[in-house]
Amino acid sequence: MSLQVEEQHSLVKVARPDAAVGIDLGIKTLAVLADSDGICTEEPNPRHLTHAQTQLRRANRTVSRRQGPDWRTGRQPSRRWEKANAQRNKIHHRVANLREDTLHKMTTRLADTYGTIVIEDLNVAGMGMNRRLSRHVADAAFGEIRRQLTYKTRQRGTRLIVADRWFASSKTCSRCGVVKAKLPLSTRVFKCDNCGLVLDRDANAGHNLATLAARTTGTGVAGDLDPAVKAESKPRGA
Ligand SMILES: [Zn+2]
Repeated sequence: MSLQVEEQHSLVKVARPDAAVGIDLGIKTLAVLADSDGICTEEPNPRHLTHAQTQLRRANRTVSRRQGPDWRTGRQPSRRWEKANAQRNKIHHRVANLREDTLHKMTTRLADTYGTIVIEDLNVAGMGMNRRLSRHVADAAFGEIRRQLTYKTRQRGTRLIVADRWFASSKTCSRCGVVKAKLPLSTRVFKCDNCGLVLDRDANAGHNLATLAARTTGTGVAGDLDPAVKAESKPRGA
């Protein structure tokens, strides 16, 4: 009996192998997608997820108002706290499941469509995230998107590019390439002082990622940027 297992490399066919898409994790939406044809779409936060998040915030407030356990004094939690805490944990799990499900739907669709997908490195993407979400939730969402896209692009033999942190996608004009010194998070619209471009902040960032994708000839390994692009993108954010 042979113990050798033959690996199955049945690659899934991608709809547009020559096209690239840039994903910018949105502030007011789940994500903004910009493809190499210059088409920009918003990925909305599904209503059931937004609803569950609201419920979770409410449940957190209820728990914090009730008398919880205190390890310093050895105080036992109240029955009301126990009840509220159990309810909170239930909602927390539902939010986590809904979020993962939502991200899976998006990443599968993107992986089935594009030959190249570009996302930003965590350090940059985290700063542009929805501030209503806590930082660790935002980081988890980003890590999950990257994890899903890594194996889904591998399954399909396509490329995932993780743009390095020096690529200032939000601050760079997607038309003329001039980089702004400052662009506060509260500024929702990108206005270029050089060429006059006026565009939604996330859309502008998405276009820059798509342009980066189109320029890149990588190997398909996550985080493996073409050295030329890496060198080129570095001074832009500096
Ligand atoms: Zn410009």
